[in-house]
Amino acid sequence: MSTPWGQGKGTFEILLCDIDAFFASVEQRDRPEYRGKPVVVGGSLSGRGVVSTCSYEARKYGVHSAMPVEQARQLCPGAIFLPGDTARYRRVSREVFAVYDRFTPEIEIVSIDEAYLALPPGEGVAAAEEIRRIVREELGLSVTIGVSVNKLLSKIASELAKPDRIGQLWPEQVERVLWPLSPAFLPGLGPISVEKLERIGIETIGQIAAAPPGLLRKYFGKNALTLQRSARGIDNRPLETVREAKSLSEEKTFSTDLADEEVILAVLISQAESLGYRLRSGELRARKVGIKVRYADFRTITRELTLPAPTDGDRDIYEAAVRLFTAHKGRPPWRLIGLRVSDFVSGEQLSLFDLLPSEKKEKELQHTRDRLRERYGGSVVYRARRLLNSSPGGDD
Ligand SMILES: [Mg+2]
Repeated sequence: MSTPWGQGKGTFEILLCDIDAFFASVEQRDRPEYRGKPVVVGGSLSGRGVVSTCSYEARKYGVHSAMPVEQARQLCPGAIFLPGDTARYRRVSREVFAVYDRFTPEIEIVSIDEAYLALPPGEGVAAAEEIRRIVREELGLSVTIGVSVNKLLSKIASELAKPDRIGQLWPEQVERVLWPLSPAFLPGLGPISVEKLERIGIETIGQIAAAPPGLLRKYFGKNALTLQRSARGIDNRPLETVREAKSLSEEKTFSTDLADEEVILAVLISQAESLGYRLRSGELRARKVGIKVRYADFRTITRELTLPAPTDGDRDIYEAAVRLFTAHKGRPPWRLIGLRVSDFVSGEQLSLFDLLPSEKKEKELQHTRDRLRERYGGSVVYRARRLLNSSPGGDD
């Protein structure tokens, strides 16, 4: 069904476009011998680090992203393990986003493979069908698209439709479709919150919607209101097209408490790469970098620092994150790690002549590395290891 439904004033329909198993799909597209096989991208030859993406064939074995690679090897020893090629994935990502651009200028880039698009009411489903066709025919990739009236519902619609389909979830379907589902389907609600809900007897989204506000407030504090509104399908967050954003952030909740600091650092690297990518795609640089850490006792802190100069570089962001994490890491295990950049400046980069000699050297090195990566392909993890080895927080 396609009900044109604009929320309130009927301003927009929102699409969440999510490339299916992105890194693994690019590998399978470019190497026919990988097709139909379990492919796991991430980690390193030594087997440490976390899974970035895995193909649907690997998911059948229980492998999923953010899982330690070691565990993925145990679940699926026959899989093809690849370190990944960030430069190539970025190029493909830009090609996919260029397709979205043909449909609307209102695009919020969420990550290298996910974006929200806003379209006029009544045009969402047709645009989604056309986008899927073009991305498949021109780029050989499948995209799952959720269509609704806000970011929350379009995200859930896409989760329910995965892979390779269009999903719709309109406000009048919330009660029938959303309410019977587990709270785990609410974006941003981590496994620990889901357990907390279970302990107070709440096992469906409908029960959250119907819960006495006081009960939710007791367990979720100031997040209780947002939680209940989400359960009712309400979400007034505007699209943050990169140029209008005040900050960009990435956050990872761990399904089990994590005690391995190296895994935390690997997550920070991928978050720094994603944030750097989003900054560069919006031609922005950030003055501030902040981290969010949740400890084993649920205490959550945020800390930020101001950089000596605004940056859009993955490495600058990562190094600031490591400085902050080293200073505030407390004791393992950790439950959540987040990274945020803010206080943006836009416009021209400094010319090489304006830089201090040491900055100039780093800039030139980065140009050389980028050229080498373009030519020979790069490895997420090779780079990650180098970063780890050279960072003050790296312990190996
Ligand atoms: Mg995806």
